[in-house]
Amino acid sequence: TDDTLSTDGRYARLCRRLPLWQQILVGLVLGTLVGSLLGERAAWLAPIGDLFINAIKMLIVPLVFSTLVVGITGMRDPQAMGRIGLRTVAIYLLTTAFAIALGLLLSTLIQPGTGVSMSLGATDAPAAQDAPGLSDILVGLVPTNPVAALTDGNILQIIVFAIALAIALAITGKPAEPVIRVFEGLAEAMITLTTFVMALAPIGVFALIAVVTGQYGADVLWPLAKVIGVMYLACVLQVLLVYSGIVALVMRLNPLRYLHGSLDALLVAFSSASSSGTLPVSLRCAENNLGVPRSIAAFVLPVGATINMDGTAIYQGVVAVFVAQLVGVDLSWADYGMIVLTGTLASIGTAGVPGAGLIMLSIVLAQVGLPLAAVGVIAGIDRILDMARTGVNVAGDLMVTTWVAVSENTVDRQVYNGRRCSA
Ligand code: ASP
Repeated sequence: TDDTLSTDGRYARLCRRLPLWQQILVGLVLGTLVGSLLGERAAWLAPIGDLFINAIKMLIVPLVFSTLVVGITGMRDPQAMGRIGLRTVAIYLLTTAFAIALGLLLSTLIQPGTGVSMSLGATDAPAAQDAPGLSDILVGLVPTNPVAALTDGNILQIIVFAIALAIALAITGKPAEPVIRVFEGLAEAMITLTTFVMALAPIGVFALIAVVTGQYGADVLWPLAKVIGVMYLACVLQVLLVYSGIVALVMRLNPLRYLHGSLDALLVAFSSASSSGTLPVSLRCAENNLGVPRSIAAFVLPVGATINMDGTAIYQGVVAVFVAQLVGVDLSWADYGMIVLTGTLASIGTAGVPGAGLIMLSIVLAQVGLPLAAVGVIAGIDRILDMARTGVNVAGDLMVTTWVAVSENTVDRQVYNGRRCSA
């Protein structure tokens, strides 16, 4: 309609330039080269990467809050909300359990921990943690103070308040209309701001990758090369086989378009190791490249960035089996079942920030009686694993978001297939 037409006109010029994902890819490649040349000295590039990450994080709260309120007040079929919510959570849980199983399978087949000699005793054992209780999670969903939820950036609480407010605004009708318009204006402005920040992504990604590459020399990575390899293989298979397979077979869409449309978000996720931080980019990809309506993307993606961590789940599976092989423990079927269960819960409880999955690892290891000191060994290479799992976390969120939109029959196929440029 009018809205899309004007957006088309405004951004038509942007489409003709070198696509953003190619610019980011150039940043990634150059960053790797510069990082390996400079080594530790690449650390002086860190502020540039941090600046970019801060700038995206700055967008998250106002962007999520305003687009969600606008999305829900604009919904033609409010009853769909409940259905979409249930479907979203069910698909998220299912894909996560699958992801751990894939990690367990590959790790069991390839055996990255067999024949590796490494002493665990020297490293400090972190304290075991308990998986978050279900009732705590549920009670914690409702903020006592929505402004505090906004300042803390508590995404789940923000979602709950935004939904409640949007429903109230819609029911209130005329007196609430100015407020709805404020949110509409804010949402549009935040989307424009996202475009500005994303223009810096190639430089930001360059700096982030250079620092990481400079930090990890071959001497650190080599002893654990096999477990890194298994992790990357599992992540690639999860995206190229599982997600693309679902896109092709279940959604009956071209999986290459899904991969292509998600690239900006995947590259930012990979280099930043933060799926929460990537949220503004994923929202943009879902709407502009995958043709997902804002009402769905604004709900499904923030929920996913908070609870859906398929890459983290793969990691729990791969590392648990790796540690068992390292210390020569045979895992029983019950142990595997336990890993799937606690790994799913742990991945839900993992915050979308760098290194969060490593902390949750102790829950899974403790449940099957594996030595927690192994966390110390993994910590040395965790950033490398974190980049891969964060990429998968975000790819999973985008796949499920598209899936939910397809199931509601609301995907704009013109946009999805790249026939119409919407940004
Ligand atoms: N860094 C991951 C993310 O942001 C979470 C993790 O550490 O597993 O998605």
